[in-house]
Amino acid sequence: MLVLVIVFCLVRSLRSEKEIAPFVSQCLFWLLIPLVSNMVIALSNKVAVLEFCFTVYFVSSTILLYYCNMFMIKYCHFEHYRPLLNKILLTLTAVDAVSVVSNYIFKHTFDISIGDVGTHNGIPGIPGALGMENVVFTSLWYHKIHLAVAGLFVLLPLAMITVRFFKSSKLYRDRYAGILIAYVFSIFWESFHVFINDPVDQSVIGISVCGIFIYIYAIEYIPSVLMDEMKTTVIATVSDGVLFFDENRKCIYVNPAARMQLGIGNNESAKVGFGKLHELTGEDPLESGNYISKKMTCKKVEGDEEYIYDIEFHKLHDLQGKLIGSFAKIQDTTERTKRENLNKFLATHDKLTGIYNIDRFYEEVRKVLTDNPDKKFYIVTSDIKDFKLINDRFGREFADKLLIRTAELFKEFVTDDLTRYGRIGSDKFGCLIESSRFDEQIFKTAIQEVGNLGSDKVVPIIIHAGIYEIEDKNMPVAAMLDRSFIAIAGIKNDADRRIAYYEEHAREEMLWSQKVTEQIDSAIQSGQIVPYLQAQVSREGKVVGAEVLVRWIHPVEGFMPPGKFLGILEKNGMIAKIDRYIWECACRILKRWEEEGRPDLYLSVNISPKDFYIMDVPKEIIGLADKYKLDKNRLRLEITESIMMDDVDEKLKTIDKLRDAGFIVEMDDFGSGYSSLNMLKDMPVDVLKLDMVFLKDTAANERTKKIMSLIINLAKSLNIPVIAEGVETVEQVDLLTEMGCDYFQGYYFARPVSLDEYEQKTLNAS
Ligand code: C2E
Ligand code: CA
Ligand code: CA
Repeated sequence: MLVLVIVFCLVRSLRSEKEIAPFVSQCLFWLLIPLVSNMVIALSNKVAVLEFCFTVYFVSSTILLYYCNMFMIKYCHFEHYRPLLNKILLTLTAVDAVSVVSNYIFKHTFDISIGDVGTHNGIPGIPGALGMENVVFTSLWYHKIHLAVAGLFVLLPLAMITVRFFKSSKLYRDRYAGILIAYVFSIFWESFHVFINDPVDQSVIGISVCGIFIYIYAIEYIPSVLMDEMKTTVIATVSDGVLFFDENRKCIYVNPAARMQLGIGNNESAKVGFGKLHELTGEDPLESGNYISKKMTCKKVEGDEEYIYDIEFHKLHDLQGKLIGSFAKIQDTTERTKRENLNKFLATHDKLTGIYNIDRFYEEVRKVLTDNPDKKFYIVTSDIKDFKLINDRFGREFADKLLIRTAELFKEFVTDDLTRYGRIGSDKFGCLIESSRFDEQIFKTAIQEVGNLGSDKVVPIIIHAGIYEIEDKNMPVAAMLDRSFIAIAGIKNDADRRIAYYEEHAREEMLWSQKVTEQIDSAIQSGQIVPYLQAQVSREGKVVGAEVLVRWIHPVEGFMPPGKFLGILEKNGMIAKIDRYIWECACRILKRWEEEGRPDLYLSVNISPKDFYIMDVPKEIIGLADKYKLDKNRLRLEITESIMMDDVDEKLKTIDKLRDAGFIVEMDDFGSGYSSLNMLKDMPVDVLKLDMVFLKDTAANERTKKIMSLIINLAKSLNIPVIAEGVETVEQVDLLTEMGCDYFQGYYFARPVSLDEYEQKTLNAS
C-alpha cells in the first residue's frame, strides 16, 4: 500500500513542472528501493537473498539520505552551500556504498546466518525477520560507521529546515512546519523501533510518511494566506483603478489608483466610490442594462489637463446566478490615446506645415468631387521658383519658414468647407476650390506678398500658381495636379505672370518640348538636322550668297521648320549644339565650293543670343574657319540686336573680335522688336538686314515707307550695305531698289531649299 502511494507521488512529481520537482522525484525513487528490499528481507529466509537485500538496503538508504539533503538544500534555499555539501556528501555516499558492497569480501559490516529466534543484536535501523524466527543478523564494526554516516545525513536536513523555519516570514512557515514535523516524527519513529527491538521492523514506515509529506508540501501545497496576501497587494499596487461593490451596489473597496483617478482622499471611506464613479461616467454604471460586463470611455477635465479613461464593469454571480457584487476597472489611456491621435495625425498630415499630406489630399479631393457632382471646381497649385537656390542661399530655416507661410496662405484662402489643400511636394502645394469662390485677384496678391518675406536681387522669391478647371471629375487627382503644373511651366520664365490657367495646348506644348529635348542629340548624329539655303540676290539679280537655315527632317513628324523646335532649345540652351553643327556644315559647303571653283560665294549663318552665354563664340567660329582653311569673309554671321540687352561692353568686344578675325557681321532682324537707330550707331556691324515686318506694312502705310527709307539712308551714310528680308513681290523689289537697298532675300527670288536643290537650280541658273 505504502509502495503504491509512493509510486503515485513519484509519477505526479515527475509530471510537475515546478523547479523543485526533480529533487522530490529523486527522493521518492530512492525511497522505493529500501522499501522494497525491506519487504523482501521480511519475507525471505535464504542467506544469499538476505545478504543481497541487506546490502541493497544499506546502500540505497545512504543514497536516499543523500538525495534528501539535495532536496533540502533547494527547499530551504541553501543553494549557496550546494557545491560544497554536494562534494562532501557525494564522497561519503560513494565510500559508504563501496564499503557496504565489499562486505561480500571482507565480512566487516554484517553477517547473516540461520539461528535462534529473532536475534537482532539490538542494532538500530536493522530490520528483523518477519516470521522467520531463525534468521540471525550480526552487526560488525563497519556497520557502526555506516550508522554514524547515516546519522550525519539525517541531522543535516533537520538543521537546514529548522533554521529556515525560524528565519522565514510567518506567511511561509506553514510550508516548512509540515515537513519539519514529518521529519522529526520519522526520526523518532525510526529511533523508537530501533530501541524497542521490535521483531517486526516498521521503521521504513516513518521514512515513507516523511517522503509523502515532502511531496505534498513541495509539489501540491499552495499556501492560501500567501495567495490572498498577494492578490490584495497586486490590486493595491496596479496602475489601473479598481473598485468593488457588494450586491447592494455599495462600494466596499477602492484601490489607491482609483482614489487618484476619482479624487477620493486616502482618509475618505470607500463608500463614496459609487458616487464618484457615477459622476465620471454620467450614468449609473451598475444599474443600466442586463449586462455581465461592459466597457465605456470617459473624459475628465481638470484645469488644463484632460484625462481619458477606459472603464470596464463586471457583475459577479454565484452558482445559482444570483448577483453577489460587481467591480469596476479604470484604465488611464490619456497618454496612449494622445500617442495614437498623434500617429494618426502624422500619417495624414505634413509634419512641417501641419496641413494634409499628399495622400490625404488626394483622398479628400476625390471625396469632395464625388459628393458634389454638380459643382464646378478648380485645382490650384503653387510652386516656389528656384526653391533649391533659396534653400542654399538663405538657409533651411528660412526656407522652412517660407513653406509654412505658403501653407498659411492657403489656410487663409479657405472660404468654405468644400475647399481642401495640402502639401504635395517639397515646395509645392495643392488646393481644391469651388470655381465660383476662387478670387484670382486676392490669390495673386497673396502669393506676391509671400515674396516680401525676404528675397533679394539675386534670388527673388517668386511663387507661381497654376489653375486647372476640372472638366472630367473621374480623372485621377494626380493628372489634375499635373495639368495645373503644366500651366505653371508655361509662365516659369515669364517675369510678369504669376498665375496661369491650364490650356490643353499648353500640355501638348510641354510634351512636345520634352520630346524635342530628348531627341535632339540623336537627331544631329543621325543627320536629321540639315542646312537649307536661301539665296541672297544683288540689285542686278545675281545670286551672291545664301543664308543657312536649319531644318529637321524628322522620321515621324516629317519636315520641320526651325519655328517648331528652336524656341524650345533656346530656352534650355541646347540651341548651341545645333548652331555649332550648322556652322560646321556651312564651313564644309564653302570649302567644297572653293574646291569646285566658286570661291566668290558666301554663306550667312545665324548666331543665337543664347550662344554667347553658353560658349566662347569667337573661339568656336575662328576654330571652325581655321579647321577648313576658309577665307573668313566668306562666312557671314547674323546677330540680332537683342544680344545687346546686357553686358554691352562684353558683347561689343566679342563682335570686334569676330570682325578683326575677318568675318562679316550682319545685324539681323533690324526693325523688329525694340530696334533703335541708336543701336546702329553703337553696334559695329558690316551689313544691316531689314526685317520683313517693314515690307508687310508698306503696302498700306506711308509712314512705314518713310521710316524704311530713313533707315536705308542712315545705313548708307554709315557705309553699311542693306539687305532686305522677306521680299515676296516685284513691287517690293522696285520700292526697295528705289530706296537704295543693295541686296534682297525672299520668296520672290528663292525659297530656302536643300543644298542639292540650291546647287542645281539656284546656282546653275544664275
Ligand atoms: P531669320 O534669321 O529672320 O530667317 C529668315 C526667315 O524668314 C526664315 O525662316 C525664312 O524661311 C523666312 N523667309 C525668307 N524669305 C521669306 C519670304 O519672302 N516671306 C516669308 N514670309 N518668310 C521668308 P525660317 O527658316 O523658318 O527661320 C526662322 C528663324 O529661325 C530665322 O529667322 C532664324 O532666326 C532662326 N534660325 C533658322 N536657322 C537657324 C540656325 O541655324 N541657327 C539659329 N540660331 N537660328 C536659326
Ligand atoms: Ca537670319
Ligand atoms: Ca532675319
